[in-house]
Parts: sequence; C-alpha cells; structure tokens
Amino acid sequence: MGELRWNPILQEWVIVASHRTKRPLLPDKYHCPFCPGSPELEGKGKWQALHLPNKFPALMLDPPKPDIDAEDFYQVKPATGVCEVLLYTPNHNTELHQLDLDHIGAIIEMWIDRYKELGSLKEINYVFIFENRGRAIGVTLDHPHGQLYAFSFIPRRILTELSSAKQYMEKRKNCLYCDIIEKELADGRRIVYDNHSFIAFLPFYATWPYGVHIYSRRHIQSLLDLSESEKKDLASILKIIRAKYDALFGFKLPYTMVFHQKPTDGQDYPYDHFHIEFYPIHRGENKTKFLAGVELGTATFINPTNPEEKAKELREVKV
Ligand SMILES: [Zn+2]
Ligand SMILES: [Zn+2]
Ligand SMILES: [Zn+2]
Repeated sequence: MGELRWNPILQEWVIVASHRTKRPLLPDKYHCPFCPGSPELEGKGKWQALHLPNKFPALMLDPPKPDIDAEDFYQVKPATGVCEVLLYTPNHNTELHQLDLDHIGAIIEMWIDRYKELGSLKEINYVFIFENRGRAIGVTLDHPHGQLYAFSFIPRRILTELSSAKQYMEKRKNCLYCDIIEKELADGRRIVYDNHSFIAFLPFYATWPYGVHIYSRRHIQSLLDLSESEKKDLASILKIIRAKYDALFGFKLPYTMVFHQKPTDGQDYPYDHFHIEFYPIHRGENKTKFLAGVELGTATFINPTNPEEKAKELREVKV
C-alpha cells in the first residue's frame, strides 16, 4: 500500500502511496460527497465547519507494513500519520471569503482543534494545515475545503525554516520573522494589508508573483497561542486577502494556502513564528507560472514580476 522512503541525497522523506492512484479524478457532477445529504456526512448533525477522514489517505495512524523491506542502505518507514479533509461550509457555492466573520471563526476553531488533538498524539510530530484551491492545481472537489497532513516527521522545508530562525536568534538575539515584520512595515512597499494583529505582504524574496505571506504581529508559534481578538483579526485578514485574490482578475484564483506552525514533537521552538503562505499560480490574467527546469532542477525560483509592483496591485484591489 505504501511507505516512507528516505532520499539520502536530498535528505528528505518521500511518501510512496501507490493506492492513491485509485482515487476519483472528478466525482460525477450530480454528487458532491461534502454536500448535505451525502452518505459521507451521515450522523454529523448541523455543522458550520467539519473535519472528516480523508478517504484516500497517504498517511495512516495504523499504516500497513511497507511493501518493500528496509535495508542498511535504503531506509524505509511505515507511512504513519493522519490525512483529513477540512470542510469550510455545508454550502457548495460559498467561498471562504464570502462567509461572515463568525463562520470563519468556526473554521479557525476547527484548525485549532485539529492541530491540538493530532499534535498531542505521540506518533505525530508535525501538523500541516493547507488548502489546494482550483481545478488548475489538480483539485478534484469544488466544495470549499482544506486539508491536513499530520506527519510522523518534520518535513524538510519546515526544518530549513526552523534552522534559519534558530541561527538568526542565536546571532541577533531576535526573531527573524519579527524583524521582517518591522522591516516591511517601515518600508511599506510590499504591504498588501494589515490589521491590529497581522500583516499581509509580498516577501522581498517572493517566489510567486502574487504570493502573499501573512505573519502574526505578536511572536507566537502556533494557532494555539492566538488570543480571542487575534482570532477575529485572523478571520478578517483571511477574508480580505482571499476576496482580493478573487477580485484581482474577476475569477476564482487557483492557489495553495499553507500554515507554518511549530512542530508537535514536544520540543521548544522559541525562535519559530506562526505564519501563513499563499502560492497562487497566476502571473497575469491569462498567464500562469509553471515550475520548470530551473525551479525543479535547482530549486531556484525565477519570479517574472516585481514584488513591489504586485503588492501595489493587490493593495489597490477593492473588496
Ligand atoms: Zn458540495
Ligand atoms: Zn517572531
Ligand atoms: Zn513558511
């Protein structure tokens, strides 16, 4: 069924999940598994936001024995973890930004609940909340939803972020993210929107033309640290940024949204700083950016646009 295989060259785990090729490409158009009345939701009662197990999980708490034997040379581990679907609303045609702030608040409580519950499992060392949005990036179900992968290991990109923040704090006695916030607020050119608790901006080193990052102004490590007023401000900034994205070209913009939070391995990460990153694939109304040779072969991004100009464009989108 599947396993984790270690890539000793890039020093990262690969999830082999061959059973997932059986998952539906697109469900038949008369039946959405996440709409009221679907058998998948039986017994769930009335809900605003709801988590469900992923029916085709790449990771499982009780994973099958790896198909292939580990050896001294090639390391293999069971594909331990949890994959969930996170429904934003029972209404098939309402996007997150069209929901009222209380409803978005209920989604935030769901994220908090899942991070807390799964993060407390001894098998789980990293809880990754994300959303793939739009057919253009391979989403098979249009019903507004996000997902969650709870990993037994800390993924490599997260380790890179943690290691940079740690080194920075050791050297400068400060948080790297907090210093970026200060720098961006002082400069202002790349700010898209900000409120009392969060700032949304295009990073100086943006890789995606419209790739907004949202940082909490307060130095916190996860959703669990949010105060009540910060939750309200998070709901509000998500609503505004996502509304701007759809208003930008007048269509539902495809993107990935990811949450970067501290690992749940029981260690302290005082240098980590909670943030959200968006990766929209468009670089213009009719143009998308493809990851090609340079990006795939060297992990060096070519951003064909200027972050200062794109931030201005997004800042000026009226919502
Ligand atoms: Zn639906
Ligand atoms: Zn910080
Ligand atoms: Zn990040």
